[in-house]
This record gives sequence, structure tokens and C-alpha cells, in this order.
Amino acid sequence: MEKLAPCQENCPISIDIRRWIGIVAQRDKLGLSLAQAYESAWQVIVDRNPMPATLGRVCPHPCETQCNRSAMDEALSINAMERFLGDWAISQRLPLPRLEEDPKPESIGVIGSGPSGLSFAYQMARRGYAVTVYEQRAHPGGMLRHGIPNYRLPPDILDAEISRIERLGVEIRLGTAVGRDVALSELRERHAALYVGIGAQSSRKLGIGGEAETAVWSGAEYLLRINSGEQVDVGSTVVVIGGGNTAVDAARTALRAGAQVTIAYRRSRAEMPALAAEVEEAVSEGVELQLLTAPVWIERRDDRLLLTVVRMELGAEDESGRRRPVPKPGSESQLSVDTVIAAVAQEPEWSGLEELQRDGHLASDPTGAVTDGVWGGGDATEPGICGAAIGQGRRAAQILHSRLRGLPDPAPETRAPMDLAGLRLDAYAPVARAERARQSAAIALTSPDAEVDLGIDEEQFLTETARCLSCGFCFGCEQCSMFCTLQSFSRLEDPTPGAYFSLSLDFCVECGKCIEVCPCGFLEVTVPRLPGVDVKRPQTGADSAP
Ligand code: SF4
Ligand code: SF4
Ligand code: SF4
Repeated sequence: MEKLAPCQENCPISIDIRRWIGIVAQRDKLGLSLAQAYESAWQVIVDRNPMPATLGRVCPHPCETQCNRSAMDEALSINAMERFLGDWAISQRLPLPRLEEDPKPESIGVIGSGPSGLSFAYQMARRGYAVTVYEQRAHPGGMLRHGIPNYRLPPDILDAEISRIERLGVEIRLGTAVGRDVALSELRERHAALYVGIGAQSSRKLGIGGEAETAVWSGAEYLLRINSGEQVDVGSTVVVIGGGNTAVDAARTALRAGAQVTIAYRRSRAEMPALAAEVEEAVSEGVELQLLTAPVWIERRDDRLLLTVVRMELGAEDESGRRRPVPKPGSESQLSVDTVIAAVAQEPEWSGLEELQRDGHLASDPTGAVTDGVWGGGDATEPGICGAAIGQGRRAAQILHSRLRGLPDPAPETRAPMDLAGLRLDAYAPVARAERARQSAAIALTSPDAEVDLGIDEEQFLTETARCLSCGFCFGCEQCSMFCTLQSFSRLEDPTPGAYFSLSLDFCVECGKCIEVCPCGFLEVTVPRLPGVDVKRPQTGADSAP
């Protein structure tokens, strides 16, 4: 019976990773050419994530953390593979697929063109709704455009994936801020439903003495100005405070502007929320890490900023499960720098939308519903990774569509996850994981916009697809049919992923051999025929096909 793969369970967009990888890996058995397999695999991804080339660059890939393959050698390079296929689809100019051709009478408005708003807009447009997105800035993309440096996400990749959403019929009205150019009440009248995906654009203060009198930059503001093409002078020495991706992005951007950069973070390196690979690259490029260090005071001295910091020690665990940093008495020291960039936390800007927030967050329930006719998600609801924002946009669109059409809400996922114990790892050959090529630090620093992560090539991609264990999903290995002496398994003439054989139990003597040899845990034991007798009777979850 098909189980839920752990990679999918841990992907915030719930992409059917096993299926799209399997389509490429099993293309010969499925009678697909390489190009057909690529296109079909890409269609599986974009059913849930319309921006695979983008996510393949910026997602911290929690899917890989749970990949069962890591018990054998290493997790699959899912994120790099997603990027490979995303780039391939851009090169082929593949259009996003529609789900329903008939136009729907309701018009839908979206506030904010970040990942959550675009995901929602895409899912509604492909179901036949007319969608208008209101974006306050001059370019679409939200934090993807304004909060991520070009060397991590080239603008032409983002442009290509957003244009594809526009080609589905989504209208993006740029330079239109709610509260300034149009009132929320007007949008509520104009549209049958609204989705609020405004992100978290404003940076929290450090909360230290002297901050109000000195020009402390926020990481988000710095990246926004750089990404908008402004020439920003940060001087020759910069301290960035924080340990998340924005802090690391700001530090590496300042480094590319020629500054000497230090990241000051109050916990240890292992606890930095930023992607470990990004921290590694920052260090290799020349960013200095000053760990277990927190700011306490800032003042201007002549042309420079004098930042007083204190050493921290790790104490007892806090509510996040991490050890709480505690100041070490008498350990204060001072740093004299040109610029201090604070990248500690982000929060939404509510201008014009105040009535939709509660305690600084979008007042939405788990379905994404905020109030009558208004839905929302993304960082305005709860700060999270880009994939979570896309997942929330998709779920809200599915539920809204069902309700507008008088259908029941989509059923929640009920499949059991496929755990490691159900796999026969000895049936798979060890193969090393594909690693991405990286730009050298020397080139990265002399060409500030040059992409640092160069991805994997086609050979690596194809090898990587063959590493997937297809956890809990038949991949047509034929072991069951080869071991069944009574020929209960018959090959299907027109196989599809997960369905290669039909199974007849008429002559089954319940030897259980097929279950024992099935490497991926797809076949399983069903109820004993006689009480107390352990009968190994295969179950496939479908009458006619494993
Ligand atoms: S979106 Fe992120 S978590 Fe989901 S499959 Fe892609 S890399 Fe993995
Ligand atoms: S081996 Fe394949 S199906 Fe299993 S968790 Fe990893 S990527 Fe997913
Ligand atoms: S043993 Fe049979 S059911 Fe299991 S993966 Fe192989 S072909 Fe599929």
C-alpha cells in the first residue's frame, strides 16, 4: 500500500518528491523519453510549487533532513535536483498547467506579491479565477526579490518564474500600496475574496541603549536598497548582529562591497538559524564570526560607531529547546566600526491593514481564513521559510475554491509515513550523493552578483534520481513477481508510477516471500485469516495493482 514518503511529509509545500524523482528514474519502464520524463516530473512539482528554480536555490530543504537514504549513506540532494528541473523548464519555456478550463465568476484580490501571495494567485488562476495582485513596490517577488542577494537568487530566474504565473492570467499591479493608493474596504468591495500575503518587511530593533541616536541599519533595509540597485556606502568595517539567513546575506553583501565584516551572534555556531552551507561560504569568503557575543550599547564617536558587546555563556534550555545565552559579568569589550547592521527579527508592516492583525500577526485560523472574505498566510501569519509561505498560499486557495464552489474542504493527509524499519536497505547499491559545484571565493568577491551555488549537472541529476529508495511506493523492481512461484503477479501493459503489476490472490498460498523481498515496503501483511495464525498475505492497497 502506498505510504507517505518522509521527504514529502517534511516538505512544507508537501511536494510529491518521490513521484517526480521516480518518473525520471523509471522513465524506461514507463516508456518515456528523457524530455517527456523531465516535463512530467516538473508537472508534479508545479502542482504544488510554481517556482522550483527559485526554491531550488533558497529553500533550506527540510525534506532532506528526513530522507531515509541518509541511513544508508547520505540523503538525496533533493533541493539541487529541484533546481535542475526548474532551470530545465525555464530553458524550455514550459507553461504552468491549468487545472480547470472553465472561467469562474468570482474575482480574487491578493495583497503582496511575495511567495505566499504568488502561490495563492497561481492556485486560484489555474482553477479559472481572475486574479489581481496588488504590490506596493516597483517589482514583484516580495522577500525573494528584495531580501535575498542576487548571488543566491539571480533576478532573471525569479523573473522567469513570476512571468510564467502572469502568463496564466494573473495581473500584478505594481506600485499600489493598500492604505496609500487603495483602501482595504475598496478591495473588499471589488473582489469576492482577498488574500493577504504581505510578509514581514520591517526589522525589529536591537533594544539596546544609544540605538535611537545612532544610525543602526536593519538587514532587510540594507538588502532592499542593494537589490533595488542603490549605491550604498557601508564604509570599510561592518558588524552584523544576528545569526539567521538575513544576517549572513547582509554580511556577505557588505563583504562584496569591499568591507571587512564581522557577524556577532549571541549563541554558538551550531545554533545559528542560517543555513550551515551559507555560514560556511561566508567564512570561506572572509566574514569573521564573533560567537557568544551580544550588543549592549552603541554610541557615535567622531565618524565611527562604538559598539559595546558582552560575552555570553550558554545556560539552561529555553522554550525553543536551545540553551539560553547568559551575559558573562565583566566581559564587555568595544568594537569601533563604520556601520552596524541589525538582522535579529522581522515583523509585518500593517499600514492600511491594521484591522486584520492581532498581537502583530495576521489573525488567521489554520485554514488561512482571517475574517469574512479575507484569507492570508506567509510571514505575516508566522515567520517561517519560503516553502511554508507557498504551502499556506496553496492550502488557502484549495479551501477557498472548495467553499466558493460548494464542495467539501479538501481531505487532510491520512497516509501512514514510511519509516526506515519497513525498508530493505541491503537491496540498494551504495552511491555517493551529488554535491553542488561552488564558485570560488575569489570570483565571488570580484563579481558581486555572480551566483555562488552552481548546482548539479545532468549526469549528477540522473545518478541522484536512481539513489531514491522510493520509500513506500512500488518502483517496478520485479522482485515480487520473480519470487512468486505461483505467478500471482502480472505485469501491467500500461504502467504508471507506483503501479507496475496486478496481483491476483486466487492461488496465493501466503508464503509471504513477495513481502520479504519488496525493498521499498510497498507490499505489506494484511489481516490474518485465522485468529492467532500469522499469515503473510500480501496487500497492495488496490485491487488490481501494487
Ligand atoms: S520546497 Fe524545499 S522542502 Fe520542499 S522539496 Fe523543495 S527543497 Fe525540499
Ligand atoms: S529515499 Fe526517496 S522517497 Fe525516500 S525519503 Fe529519500 S527522497 Fe524520499
Ligand atoms: S517487490 Fe514488487 S511491489 Fe515491491 S517494489 Fe518491487 S515490483 Fe514493486
